[in-house]
Amino acid sequence: MGKFFGYIAFLVFIALIGAGGILGYFLLEGVPPRLEVSPVPKVIGRKCTFTVKAIDRRSGLSYISATLVQRGRVIRLGSKTYRHREWWRGSGIKEDKISWTIRPIELGLSQGDALLQVCARDSSWRNDLKGNELVWKDRVQIDTTPPQIGLESTVHNIRIGGSGLICYRVNKPVTRTGVWIDQHFFPAYPGPGGKEGIYVAMVALPFDATRPKRVFIEAVDQAGNIARACFPYRILPRGLRVCRIDISDQFLDQKMPEFMARYPDLKGPLPEVFLKVNTEIRRRNNAEIRSYCRKSVPHMLWHGRFERLPGSAFEAGFGDERHYFYRGKEIDREFHMGVDLASVAHAKIPAGNDGIVVFAGYLGIYGNTVILDHGLGLFSMYSHMNEIRVSVGDKVERGETIGITDSTGLAGGDHLHYGMLVSGVFVNPMEWWDQKWIQDHILANIATH
Ligand SMILES: [Zn+2]
Repeated sequence: MGKFFGYIAFLVFIALIGAGGILGYFLLEGVPPRLEVSPVPKVIGRKCTFTVKAIDRRSGLSYISATLVQRGRVIRLGSKTYRHREWWRGSGIKEDKISWTIRPIELGLSQGDALLQVCARDSSWRNDLKGNELVWKDRVQIDTTPPQIGLESTVHNIRIGGSGLICYRVNKPVTRTGVWIDQHFFPAYPGPGGKEGIYVAMVALPFDATRPKRVFIEAVDQAGNIARACFPYRILPRGLRVCRIDISDQFLDQKMPEFMARYPDLKGPLPEVFLKVNTEIRRRNNAEIRSYCRKSVPHMLWHGRFERLPGSAFEAGFGDERHYFYRGKEIDREFHMGVDLASVAHAKIPAGNDGIVVFAGYLGIYGNTVILDHGLGLFSMYSHMNEIRVSVGDKVERGETIGITDSTGLAGGDHLHYGMLVSGVFVNPMEWWDQKWIQDHILANIATH
């Protein structure tokens, strides 16, 4: 009997130690919850959402709340209470994520400073059963005033397929600003004078644009407030040139194997291969070119007019509508996105202007190609090269030889295909070869600073 009670007493003792251990570990713990706030709001505009991640590994969460305090006024953003589920380990909710949205205007907040507070408590029995508490605080700025945009430039005569420059000032720091022309966004860069708040955006009207519907300057401040401003502009028509290109069997025999070697999925009779090259590969190549011309050096690297191939004859123009014929039948129609210049065979190609090489290599229908970044979103490209004499990252000077002409890619004879782009939109290079045009349409708009 004595042995039996002794055994029971031992079991009870063990059970008590176990219960005490559990109680001590879960319910009498003294570690407050952890809080992670992301993104940490600094400047709050018309609407700001932030997420709070609360973690409590032992007793679990019991309560979370968020408040804003401004000039003694306490505004509750929201709270959440967690049920005490099991006696031995509190709520059992070790982790939770809550998002709150602050809309200062609806909450009646004033412009200026406020204090954002997030409070979390766990299910511990400590502190008179209120649990361990952690309060996270952050000073925030309430700013619901959109920036003001003031136009500085005056000449906005943009030709379809051509370029232009808009100069304006914004009265507060921005996170993003530029000019929208329909679906194209042309980022603006700080003005060359270094004057605070002055921005310049190089813009372009795509060659197939008709009358754009959405044309405005946009500025987004640190609080996310958006301002938009229209500017007066005039759209000039572009010249239309239609030309016929006859595709011979000899041309197909000479050129298609090069593409079939580069693009293994090209199969079938040569006229069909040509069609795929002229449409699908062309589109793929143009998309690749645009991707190299999105990010640009934030200042002007070029000066003066752009140089073209010396002593060359004009062979084909920008935006030419090309009708392709094979054995007397029209098989395709494409637009030409540059100017073709022909000189003597294997002529030296000068860099159009000072810039940085962003691409140097084979580029499908364009053959061996070099793309230069001239800053502020302006790029020039040189195609059908024989030899490339520069590498990506090289700084080149206007007139410096960057390669030798040839007929690599989809070219019938030795010539230079000279292309230009503004923030990924192909533009007519001829404007950039003309000092007077540059003076009147670009420099005149910056010169006021
Ligand atoms: Zn060309």
